[in-house]
This record gives sequence, structure tokens and C-alpha cells, in this order.
Amino acid sequence: MDLYEHQARELFEEHGIVVPRARVTDDPKEARAAARALGGRVVVKAQVKTGGRGKAGGVKLAADPAAAEITARQILGMDIKGHTVRTVMVAEPVDIDAEFYVSYVLDRAAGRFLAIASAEGGMEIEEIAATSPEAVARVPVDPAQGVTSAKAAEIAAAAGLPPQTVDVLVRLWDVLVREDATLVEVNPLVRTAQGRIVALDGKVTLDDNARFRQARWGDTADPQEDPLEALAAERGLNYVKLDGEVGIIGNGAGLVMSTLDVVAGCGARPANFLDIGGGASAEVMADGLAVILSDPGVKSVFVNVFGGITACDAVADGIVRALATVRLTKPLVVRLDGNNAARGRALLEAHPHPLVEQAPTMDEAARRAAQLARGGAPLGGQLAHGH
Ligand code: GDP
Ligand code: MN
Repeated sequence: MDLYEHQARELFEEHGIVVPRARVTDDPKEARAAARALGGRVVVKAQVKTGGRGKAGGVKLAADPAAAEITARQILGMDIKGHTVRTVMVAEPVDIDAEFYVSYVLDRAAGRFLAIASAEGGMEIEEIAATSPEAVARVPVDPAQGVTSAKAAEIAAAAGLPPQTVDVLVRLWDVLVREDATLVEVNPLVRTAQGRIVALDGKVTLDDNARFRQARWGDTADPQEDPLEALAAERGLNYVKLDGEVGIIGNGAGLVMSTLDVVAGCGARPANFLDIGGGASAEVMADGLAVILSDPGVKSVFVNVFGGITACDAVADGIVRALATVRLTKPLVVRLDGNNAARGRALLEAHPHPLVEQAPTMDEAARRAAQLARGGAPLGGQLAHGH
């Protein structure tokens, strides 16, 4: 789970890293009051879980409390890379002398962490990394040894950061370990005109596997997470949003994965995938269809089931019952195979629906779903059989 900047800021502060004084609000009037409390001149920052806010107009300086209110009103509701701004952080402005980049990121392949640091931080870090990679130092960190002062000094020296950053590098490692993060990033870490080192922005990704012992974030209601993913999670379904046009429901992670490949092989892009796992009761199927159909990107749905412990006739029964409660708005292609496949297919045929058709194999079903997603005409209740 990613944290918001203001949550990362809170963690940094708890670990002794200097951050600007700030307040978070969803109300422009409160932004004005916050500005007054912070001394008048402030920076108003969109709180969204994506980078590049500065370039998108989501980070603005306001000269006085009245300007802070106006600026907050402008930024609230703004769309930044598909994220709606629901809160802003009003922060004390910092006089920047130099901007640095520092991060620790889990390097899964190498089984260790990587410190990435540069003396040329700020909004252009991606371009710098691409055009002058030598300006970005990458130093492996052994998780068992961690970042000691000596290690931090090595990282600072490799990146050309001033010696005052060593303390921050050690504390930032502490944030990573104590908070169970897989990523901590500060961009920019700045040296102020007064020579202080301040974390001006923060990104922290927590390890979801450690959520059980990081209870404080457990009830962080997150309206910006994909609402369908939230709905699916609520109903105990394993749903992942992608951005293509074919919705995919399957049973079992392996089958769902290969379904994605087969659909892609037919020249269509999966819109999402939903693993209904072992159970395919009417309720699970209805929930699954409801979730998939609420995705506006979906143009057709492919239900791919290999009956095992849950037999195909039970799945077919689930589909038939689900269609009684869910209004199907997109064509649905069903492929049933495995345990009791013939009975399952017969059950679907006995309950024809103008938008539902069957295909005997996974390849044929995928081809048909891709065709329908491109605007092909549904068969209109004339079920295709091939069994
Ligand atoms: P991002 O664009 O999402 O990474 O948002 P940041 O929080 O990093 O802000 C973008 C840029 O705004 C930073 O790189 C700074 O150059 C600038 N900025 C942010 N806060 C301040 C501030 O307090 N004073 C000054 N002068 N610039 C700031
Ligand atoms: Mn930044």
C-alpha cells in the first residue's frame, strides 16, 4: 500500500527527519486558517498517490492566507493522472538552495535493498536518470547490515551529497525497517538557504504482508483506491483492474493468468481479471459479474471455467441465477470444461439469454470475446455449440 505524502511526512517526523510544518484539509477555508497559523505564505500541495504533482499544477505557492484559500479551491477536485484530489496539504514554504534525490527500494531479484541517490534531485529526476545515468548513484544495501553511518557516508559520497545528509540517510533506513516499507523515497530532499536538510516530499510503500503488525494504517479509509477493487475486496473476490476491453472471470490463478495471455493473443486487451477461486455459487458469480460490468472499459466478458472440485453445472447454475439479479449489459462468452462440463453447457442452453453464448474451447471463446469487444454482433440467444 502506498501512503499519501502527508502520511509519509508524519513517519519521517516521528523518526527525527526534518519536515516542513504542515496541515491537511479538504476545505479551502481551513486552508486559509492553516496558512494564517503557518505564518501566511505557504505551499498548497495536492494529496494524491502519484508523482508529478508539481508539473500537473498540483503544487503551488500562495503568498498569503487569502491566496491559500483560492489555491486550495483550485487544486481540490483537480484530476492528476486519473487521481481526484480530495485533500491538500498546506505547508510552510522552504527556501531551497539545493535539491537532492534519495530512496531505498527493495530489489527482489537480488534479495537486498538498493539505495538510489543523486545530487540532482527535483522534478527532472526521471530525465536525469535517462540522460545522465552517472549522476544517479545506486548502492546495494544488505538488509542484515542495514544503513549504518558508515554505509550512509558511502551512499552520500557515491551520489555527491553533502555530509549533512548522512544523518537523514540513516534515519530514512530506520523508517523503512520499523514501518515495514518496501520503498521510501524523498524527492526533493533539500538543503535550505539556512543550510538545513529538509524532506520536502515523501513517498512510502508499505509491505502489505506486514499489514497485520502495522495496525495504524489498517483503517485508513482510502477513497482513491479503485472503487471496484475495494468492492471486490469487500466481497472476498480477487479482482485486478487493467485497462483493456475484455473482462475476465476465471477459477484459479493459473487459469486466469493463461486466459489473459490467450485474450492478448487474439489481439484484445484484458480490462480486468477476477479469480472466483474454488467457489462459483450464484452469489459469487453475481458479485463477480456486477464488479466486472461496472468497469466502463469492459466491452465483452469472458467466463473461463475449468470444473474441478466445483463442477461446471454448479458454475452454470451460478451464472443462470446471477443473470436473474444482474442486468447484463455486455455480451458474455462462457467456456466450460472439466468436471460435469456437458451438464453445465446444457443448463446454460436451457436458459438462453440474448447476450450469452458458449464456446467449446478456451481459444475459441477468447477469439469470440475479442471479436465482441471490437463491436461484433452478439448471436442473440442462438447459442454457439461445438461440443
Ligand atoms: P511532486 O511533483 O509530486 O514530486 O511534488 P513535490 O512535493 O516534489 O513538489 C514539486 C516541486 O515543487 C519540488 O521539486 C520543489 O521544487 C517545489 N516545491 C515544493 N515545496 C516547495 C517549497 O516549500 N518551496 C519551494 N521553493 N519549492 C517547493
Ligand atoms: Mn517530489
